[in-house]
Amino acid sequence: MLWGGDRARAAPDLLLNTYAKDEMETRDPIIRLFNVSKRYGKHYAVKDITIDVDAGEFIFVTGSSGAGKSTLMKMIYLAERASQGQIIVDGMNLDRISHARIPYLRRNIGVIFQDFKLIPNKTVYGNVALVLEAAGERSAMIRRRVMQVLETTGMADKVNAFPPSLSGGEQQRVAVARAVVGNPKIILADEPTGSLDSESAQSVLDFLMQYHDKGATVLIVSHNMQLISSTVRARSISLADGTLVGTATML
Ligand code: ADP
Repeated sequence: MLWGGDRARAAPDLLLNTYAKDEMETRDPIIRLFNVSKRYGKHYAVKDITIDVDAGEFIFVTGSSGAGKSTLMKMIYLAERASQGQIIVDGMNLDRISHARIPYLRRNIGVIFQDFKLIPNKTVYGNVALVLEAAGERSAMIRRRVMQVLETTGMADKVNAFPPSLSGGEQQRVAVARAVVGNPKIILADEPTGSLDSESAQSVLDFLMQYHDKGATVLIVSHNMQLISSTVRARSISLADGTLVGTATML
């Protein structure tokens, strides 16, 4: 089983992203924020943030509760619109993106939440397959790809289970499978280990590091930086009261 193990082991074939190599070598920014703010009423959740994220980077977003971390992530996958400033994701200007283009943006982004957000009355298979069904993929391809990704996350034997019957760690592995099944270039994970025991948390982070090794750009909101293997070169960005207060690179 590849899930949760030694990341030195051979990475699974299904995670080979054809886009990855070229983009990593040029390392152009895949996400750009220029003077971005988000206001709710008079309150700034995010204030005047400018940052570039290079393709293939691994980034931790830290900061205390209410610092604006989730809001920042939501603006990148367009669950929220910025009040001011510009966000460019994979060449798409989110301020100008048409409604019809939003699915193309979201296809390039896999999102993982602290509370999993699985659909309770769909099986594990159904939850993961949904992404590819929505993208209009053929059913034979969907079957193959979903089973591959569930093998990788160690959840293939629970393919017919419903999420409420699974542990938190198992649900998060399904959520991770769902996030990567479409081979997105970007993974956004908002406190993905926040409600997991340390072993499950380590498994989730190991998998995200494996996926990152294949070329994906990964942004994680987490307080659990010590769980990250020292073999991953990561940047940490810290927020306080909606503003960017620090950035550091860790090896
Ligand atoms: P974090 O993820 O760092 O805990 P959030 O991004 O969730 O912080 O929130 C940042 C600030 O914006 C907080 O003060 C929060 O109360 C406020 N906020 C977030 N979402 C909303 C919303 N939908 N409506 C009003 N205020 C919000």
